[in-house]
Amino acid sequence: MLESDDSRWPDEEVRKFFEQVASGGGQDYRRMVERLPVIVYASEIGEHGQWRYVSPQVEEILGYSAEEFLSDSGLWARLLHPDDRERALAVEDEKLVGSRRTTPVEYRMRRRDGEVVWMVDEAVLEADEGGVPVWHGVLYDVTKRKRAEAELQRSVAQQEVVARLGERALSDGDPERLMSAATELIGSLAGVHSACIWEVGRDGRRLQLRAGLEEDVVGAGRRVSAARDSHAGAAFDAGTYAIVSDWGSEERFTMPPVLRVFGAASSLAVTIDGKDRPFGVLDVHSTEPARFSAKDIPFVQAAANVLADSIERHAADKALRHRVLHDALTGLPNRLSFVDALAEGLRSACVSGSPVGILFLDLDHFKLINDSLGHHAGDALLRAVAPRLRAHLRPGDLVARFGGDEFGILIDRLADEGEALAIADRVAAAFDHPFTIDGVEHFVTASIGVAVARQDGGNPANAELLIRDADAAMYRAKEGGRARCVLFDAEMRAGAIRRLEVERELRGALDRDELALHYQPVVSLRSGEISSLEALVRWQHPVRGLLDPADFVSIAEDSGLIEPIGRWVQERAARQMLEWHRLRPDARPLDVAINLSARQVAHRDLPATIEEVIAVTGIDPAHLVLEITESVLVEESATAITSLEALNELGVRLVLDDFGTGYSSLAYLNRFPFDALKIDRSFVDALGMEQERTAIVEAIIGMARALSLDVIAEGVENEVQLAELSRLGCDYAQGHLFHAAMPPAEVTRLIDEDALRYSGIAPER
Ligand code: C2E
Ligand code: MG
Ligand code: MG
Repeated sequence: MLESDDSRWPDEEVRKFFEQVASGGGQDYRRMVERLPVIVYASEIGEHGQWRYVSPQVEEILGYSAEEFLSDSGLWARLLHPDDRERALAVEDEKLVGSRRTTPVEYRMRRRDGEVVWMVDEAVLEADEGGVPVWHGVLYDVTKRKRAEAELQRSVAQQEVVARLGERALSDGDPERLMSAATELIGSLAGVHSACIWEVGRDGRRLQLRAGLEEDVVGAGRRVSAARDSHAGAAFDAGTYAIVSDWGSEERFTMPPVLRVFGAASSLAVTIDGKDRPFGVLDVHSTEPARFSAKDIPFVQAAANVLADSIERHAADKALRHRVLHDALTGLPNRLSFVDALAEGLRSACVSGSPVGILFLDLDHFKLINDSLGHHAGDALLRAVAPRLRAHLRPGDLVARFGGDEFGILIDRLADEGEALAIADRVAAAFDHPFTIDGVEHFVTASIGVAVARQDGGNPANAELLIRDADAAMYRAKEGGRARCVLFDAEMRAGAIRRLEVERELRGALDRDELALHYQPVVSLRSGEISSLEALVRWQHPVRGLLDPADFVSIAEDSGLIEPIGRWVQERAARQMLEWHRLRPDARPLDVAINLSARQVAHRDLPATIEEVIAVTGIDPAHLVLEITESVLVEESATAITSLEALNELGVRLVLDDFGTGYSSLAYLNRFPFDALKIDRSFVDALGMEQERTAIVEAIIGMARALSLDVIAEGVENEVQLAELSRLGCDYAQGHLFHAAMPPAEVTRLIDEDALRYSGIAPER
């Protein structure tokens, strides 16, 4: 803070003191005066006023002896700093004589050794006996105080810069703007010409100008950089700072050329450190030499730290935002960003009037890859699909991964539906070449649903609804045999709405007891006896009447309602069988066959559910048959195989339903614990009519025999088919020829009438 030399003498004291000194009296005073760290003087007024007395300390403070002052009347004025001269001489005014008020004047003087010192000159002007105005004054050396003050001012200004920068960083997270604010704020400090920020390039070597020096860079070319052997490079490499006091004589560092543009004389560079890696350098310049010292480092470092924090925070924000909006596996935007982009596209289409199209793409048999080759292979495939899709699209199109094996594509600038389909075909062509996974080539296809929204004025179409439309079209593509593109149409929308209605009604159907089971007998082709009954679900709809599974089972599957419905079917069928069993206690119990859809088999809890049904009903598992549709094996093989094995453990029997419609080869069958297979109706239909299909049925039966599987034929409607099946050695059959599916009361009647056999078959002996 202020030094002791700042304390001022009250004028009265000063005046008395000078009277003593001037009168020559009082050796004591003189001794005291000459020991004080000040210059005491008496001099006549004016630039060339004669000095009458000056205390000897003048030599220590200014380097000139008292004698020199006394003999050279112009000396004082000559030593005045040119910038302060006018101010110092302004008080040389006779009018001040007798004025009691002393106005201290501060000015700089040049010492004999050339150094500049700050003086405070405090004096009173009084006329002597002869009427000559004489100054009686004291000169204090306040250089230290002045320097401290300047330091203080400088650090206050510096602190303000850091504070303002911190404020900026909090209110605006954008590092780009913060960097230019930093260079601007620092550049506005007294004695500072400019500040700039060098960012280290991707190569980790080159320092590129990132902010600051905008005015000076004009004409210096766009890519402004600092070399690694510059002061900035040195600061960066050391991870600390580098000071250049005078570029004119600098020998350690090379000067970045842009600094020459404005004639930098001194610079201070400080590293901007990041948590993971240093970001670059904050570099401050002055056109004065020696402007920067170690004292400035904390300030520049503080500013650099604010920048580093902000850059880091921004990077973290960006990473977070990226994570929220992107799929981690493929790096593609996720569903969320797709919906955002689509909504935006629909809004602007409202203005432009051009249609917006999306593709909903689902890989075919992806589960098969996942299950047979492992998740890692599935992931590798998804990762490989992403760039392929992108490569087959135009730059403005957006590819997103919705999850699983589903991708969404937003088509930019669309003319019409035809173009959307053409683009879908092009995307499908992305699958023409095999994907190499773990060094093995795999051919993969995709089903693509296309939906186009046309803006007929009014509100923009809903993004979610458009995605749903494309999804529905994609389903249609799957149904149509996969590996194809289908354009959504109004009929599908109506279908989709109908499905939603059915789903809503179906939810209440169980509670309202609207579901029922019908039973279709299965006849042994050896004895003609009914050996089992297949339970087939029906929905007694209050308005639409009795509905077949085709009207609601797939909706129940999609909505998850199949779980409670299935549970109800299983228990109801088991109880019904026990009831019928009680009606004919001495006969061999009838088996009951229950259908399970793919979704049910995929459910982890299936074995536990069946076990529970066995427990609560008390049915003998040996008389419980589960029919599993063939597609299960293709779609869900990993889960399926565990479930099927667990079911086998329970002692229930497993039938592979609809055999021939799926993709499984016969050889595939022995991986699963089936007891029987049921030949699909489509093959039975052709029996005795089409030679080829008859041959296939023959092959199936032969193969099943080799695998010790029973064979059941379904959909037997006439004697020709029955004869063929018998000839080929089929074990069981069901169909309208024997009985259609019937309500339980009819089965009860058959039991009552002891009519559980088909008379058209003579029992084998
Ligand atoms: P599915 O298991 O193949 O059942 C045989 C279907 O063929 C039954 O149709 C049956 O009524 C019909 N059918 C039987 N004999 C003949 C015939 O001679 N000619 C013709 N044209 N058709 C015949 P339904 O009852 O409509 O069942 C259709 C499908 O619904 C079933 O096919 C089965 O996959 C599924 N399903 C039925 N009940 C359930 C159930 O409780 N749960 C599950 N998940 N699916 C069920
Ligand atoms: Mg069945
Ligand atoms: Mg079937």
